[in-house]
Amino acid sequence: MSESYTGGCACGAIRYEISGEPLAMNDCQCRDCQRKSGTGHGSYLTFLRPRSEVKLHGQAALWDIVGDSGNVKTRGFCPTCGSPVHLTFAAMPELFTVHAASLDDPDRYKPQMVTYHVRGHAWDHLDPSVPTFDKMPPA
Ligand SMILES: [Zn+2]
Ligand SMILES: [Zn+2]
Repeated sequence: MSESYTGGCACGAIRYEISGEPLAMNDCQCRDCQRKSGTGHGSYLTFLRPRSEVKLHGQAALWDIVGDSGNVKTRGFCPTCGSPVHLTFAAMPELFTVHAASLDDPDRYKPQMVTYHVRGHAWDHLDPSVPTFDKMPPA
């Protein structure tokens, strides 16, 4: 058993604890991730329920957005400090995604791929050794 992934928002009102290892870790350069991160990409760890148990404390504000892929994503952010914390997907309710920098130990994030590179900006340089996809990797 690996140590749980713990983290939360900047002010501490929202906390999570997730067991097990992430299904995927990715940097995403889509426009939605740019806007909500305030910079060139978002960095995410995605867990698969029920293999991973997700414990959430505190009430995130929720906002639905249709992503570049056409799927509805529900963005969870702290209503007090505004930090983006988690992300869920209407079409795939078993997935639970957290933002890498919300981890108590962000060094546990190891990007395995870059998604939506087609939307990336020249100033947003990512590790060239990480596999990069124009959109999502082929299923
Ligand atoms: Zn907060
Ligand atoms: Zn994205």
